[in-house]
Amino acid sequence: MVVKVSDIDWNSLGFDYMQLPYRYLAYYRNGKWEEGKLTEDPNLHMNEGSPILHYGQGAFEGMKAYRTKDGSIQLFRPDRNAKRLQDSADRVLMPEYPIEDFINAAKQLVKANADYVPPYGTGGTLYIRPLLIGVGPNIGVKPADEYIFTMFCMPVGPYFKGGLTPTNFIVMDYDRAAHKGTGQSKVGGNYAASLKAGKYAHEHGYSDAVYLDPVEHKRIEEIGSANFFGITKGGKKFLTPKSPSILPSITKYSLLYLAKERLGLETEETEIFIDDLDMFSEAGACGTAAVIAPIGGLEYEGNLHVFYSETEVGPVTKRLYDELTGIQFGDVEAPEGWIVKVQ
Ligand SMILES: *Cc1c(COP(=O)(O)O)cnc(C)c1O
Repeated sequence: MVVKVSDIDWNSLGFDYMQLPYRYLAYYRNGKWEEGKLTEDPNLHMNEGSPILHYGQGAFEGMKAYRTKDGSIQLFRPDRNAKRLQDSADRVLMPEYPIEDFINAAKQLVKANADYVPPYGTGGTLYIRPLLIGVGPNIGVKPADEYIFTMFCMPVGPYFKGGLTPTNFIVMDYDRAAHKGTGQSKVGGNYAASLKAGKYAHEHGYSDAVYLDPVEHKRIEEIGSANFFGITKGGKKFLTPKSPSILPSITKYSLLYLAKERLGLETEETEIFIDDLDMFSEAGACGTAAVIAPIGGLEYEGNLHVFYSETEVGPVTKRLYDELTGIQFGDVEAPEGWIVKVQ
């Protein structure tokens, strides 16, 4: 059932599915993308042999629409999400969805559901989920002949419940992705591989699991759904892991730019060893859904390493958060090309 705007409490939004009036849908058949359109049906119809169901041939994205102070609505770097979906598609042999069409679909979708973009000042946003999947009658392990591209959306609040209050995370003995596997692609299989660790983490009071490099289990890779960053003692450097098996976070690349250009920090993508956490005065998880979630403590082999504080966000993390969200909500001037107006 479509949720009514009047039934939504903007100030207590979580990160939960809601059925909105419209979603965007396009089919790939006979070797080309057909023109997409908005539809009211929230269910996808596909053959029982669809490769997405059996062999995980699919990829997704996550981005947001923001309500500004003057009531207009804008997207943050949607071209980057469009490009990353093309990269993910390439990795699992799906046809690319054109970048222009992707951005136009997002604009149409947000306009059609504009009443559901949370008011400025509530901290809420409209989360947009693009999805590209292989469908049609198949049974052997090979790429599909037909594809569905869809994009749907819902209002959300913070992904990690703390918001800007630090929470704890835990390093567990599971791998999310392999170096030459699909860690760099936003594909569902990486998430299936993370469910067990994530469940354990949640049940034991942690926000999420943190993964180490799959070869030696010595270097921090990322969190199940967000990249990791650390601020070195003295507040001089913004460091974030470099690895072939982590998802290239658009938020992370935005923070690398802002830390350097706006906050005057040194920045580097580099190896970060789990035994070297003492070098950091602050640490955080970043991603579209997580925004910036300060990491209070990181549990590893029975020891909780506390960074800045378990209850208060550190000063550099706070400045990065203010700069990033200021740009996203239109209060701070954005670097060229980062903002796309919807209406
Ligand atoms: C989507 C995602 C992120 C965050 O990427 P953003 O572009 O910043 O939203 C980080 N890690 C994983 C595994 C992801 O799937």
